[in-house]
Amino acid sequence: MCHTYNINAKSFSLNTVVRVRILSLQEKLDLAQLLSLFVAQSNEGYAIFDQSDSIIYANQLYADIVMGTKPKNITGKTFATAITEAYQDKRGIRIKINKLDSWLKKSNQSRWQELYRSTEVELFNGRWALISEQIIGGKFLFVHATDITYKKALEKELLVAKNKLTTQAYKDDLTGISNRRDFVEKANSEISKALRHKKTLILFMMDIDYFKQINDQNGHVAGDKIVRSIAQLVKLQLREYDIFARIGGDEFALLFSDANVESTILVVSRIKEIIKNTDFEFNQKPVNCTVSFGGCVIKLHDNLETFMERADENLYKAKRSGRNKVIFR
Ligand code: GH3
Ligand code: MG
Repeated sequence: MCHTYNINAKSFSLNTVVRVRILSLQEKLDLAQLLSLFVAQSNEGYAIFDQSDSIIYANQLYADIVMGTKPKNITGKTFATAITEAYQDKRGIRIKINKLDSWLKKSNQSRWQELYRSTEVELFNGRWALISEQIIGGKFLFVHATDITYKKALEKELLVAKNKLTTQAYKDDLTGISNRRDFVEKANSEISKALRHKKTLILFMMDIDYFKQINDQNGHVAGDKIVRSIAQLVKLQLREYDIFARIGGDEFALLFSDANVESTILVVSRIKEIIKNTDFEFNQKPVNCTVSFGGCVIKLHDNLETFMERADENLYKAKRSGRNKVIFR
């Protein structure tokens, strides 16, 4: 039997009529059957646990995803037993070797504690699942499991792409060393540290001498190769924590934190000599070049701009006084 009630809700304008259908017993039975059919045939996993944490119902997909088996093999068993058997056969949720006890302890501490919780788990077969648990009526734990392998793969791809983009944003394409952006960020941080802790911070600007001429005589490809080789040569002479960046074109910056002036000038002079004595081979023909350096030490009221300006002035002096020079003031 089916009743239909008309409710004239005052709050509804224009005499809206809300029609509410009260289900007959037969219809309720049909709905329950329909729901259980849906759960049984669903492409998602569903399970119900009673208060003793025993599985009173598991559909095909729950058994498959979470336990790697069939419903009949887990129904009636406690969660701990079903998980232990799955772990021994290396199916269902991936639990690290020798970690079953601690895994179960942790799981026991959180199961039945929150009205709703969800976790992402890796499975022995390499797939991933999202498992959500919900306490219904205080007596039953309804569990929903869904395969999220595709989402996890996408997340991983996104993370790889993000890391690649971040790296690209801070690396110079030609040489692979830091670019101007990276240098500015790192240098600003080093400047504030040096000024705060009263440490010596030394900056050198380095520029290839007559590089335009080298390009004109040997071609742009040879020029690129020289820029790359010089970057590698310099890097080999620096400590891991020295900051070395290509600022643009044939200009580089070297930043030495907590450094000693004399030994830094020695390092830079050695780099100058190494570059001068290197035959940069191109098309089986040696190409030689030199570099000039202008350097200075941080002063109390410096910012990156004023610091770089002073180093640049000294670089300009090194160029003016004949190139292949180190000027530090
Ligand atoms: P100076 O000794 O005064 O520094 O002379 P220079 O010729 O090196 O100076 P200038 O700044 O006039 O020229 C720099 C040249 O560097 C201009 C350009 O042809 C070349 N250059 C800049 N970037 C690159 C690059 O990425 N690859 C190559 N091959 N050449 C570049
Ligand atoms: Mg130059």
